[in-house]
Amino acid sequence: MALKASDFRTDVHNDWCPGCGDFGILSAVQMALADLARPRNEIAIVSGIGCSGKSFQYINTYGVHTLHGRLLPFATGVKLANPDLEVIAVGGDGDGLGIGAGHFVNSGRRNLDIAYLFFNNSVYGLTKGQAAPTLKLGMKPKSLPKPNINESINPIALALSSGYTFVGRSYSYDMKHLKEMILKAINHKGFAFLDIHQPCPTYNDLNTKEWYAANDLVDKSGSPTSRLYNLDNSNFDGVVKDGNDSDEITEKMTNAFALSMNTDERLPLGVFYQNEHVPSYEERLSSRVPSYRSSPPGRQLISDSNGVPVANVSALFDELVMS
Ligand code: SF4
Repeated sequence: MALKASDFRTDVHNDWCPGCGDFGILSAVQMALADLARPRNEIAIVSGIGCSGKSFQYINTYGVHTLHGRLLPFATGVKLANPDLEVIAVGGDGDGLGIGAGHFVNSGRRNLDIAYLFFNNSVYGLTKGQAAPTLKLGMKPKSLPKPNINESINPIALALSSGYTFVGRSYSYDMKHLKEMILKAINHKGFAFLDIHQPCPTYNDLNTKEWYAANDLVDKSGSPTSRLYNLDNSNFDGVVKDGNDSDEITEKMTNAFALSMNTDERLPLGVFYQNEHVPSYEERLSSRVPSYRSSPPGRQLISDSNGVPVANVSALFDELVMS
């Protein structure tokens, strides 16, 4: 029987603030999972800490609420233990680029087959709106007594330089686009990073729904334009066609970096860069441990009927022996 978005809802009380962009992301995830058409028990949502970290409670799949900044190591462990699971990491910009920045970088270079949905509202909403790493220098949302004194991190540029093989952006209230981007991220072979912009109406009165909806900007040629625009309607193409063509890879990577700089206050939505020709971590591991894919840790018996441990991970430990 086909699954519907409503099959991925739960009865857990939702305490997000009215108007929070998280609602749009939640609905888009549920719609994407319905389209994905995988049984719910084959999906695991791994959440960090923050308002976004509550998401897993509202999605009717397996889920785990982890520690602040540690969602990516948890997601890595879940995926390595059972590579047949669809693992989706869900966390905020404070979680991912503050305390979790080291994991953010190292997850990119490993390139496990995981989708990372990055809730980007530039504040730490759960703890009263302190400046998060994506808040630009000099900005002063109503939650701050003085303008932000730190430079911001560009999450798209950091993801590109860290090795994520899918890097994209969407917006919480463009649910049609967001659903499609979530599906692309999930279906991508390798670590997919999706930067999802979302209003936090309670603490960020700068990047509001109206700010995102602005259509009275002026582009470089002096023509009126909108804040958000869809890369599918431009001639930008970030998808690498030939993994052996280093010129193509360099060109696509360079173009994606330039696009992420966002110098004209517009926000392109879509795929900045995608390269499925890079081996995933699971593929690299399988080449060293041939039994990994057919008998991953999650499919091995932990103990026999008498409770005696039977798991055999010697092949994995053999990898660590120095010759
Ligand atoms: Fe959403 Fe901000 Fe409220 Fe958190 S504090 S639930 S991010 S509106």
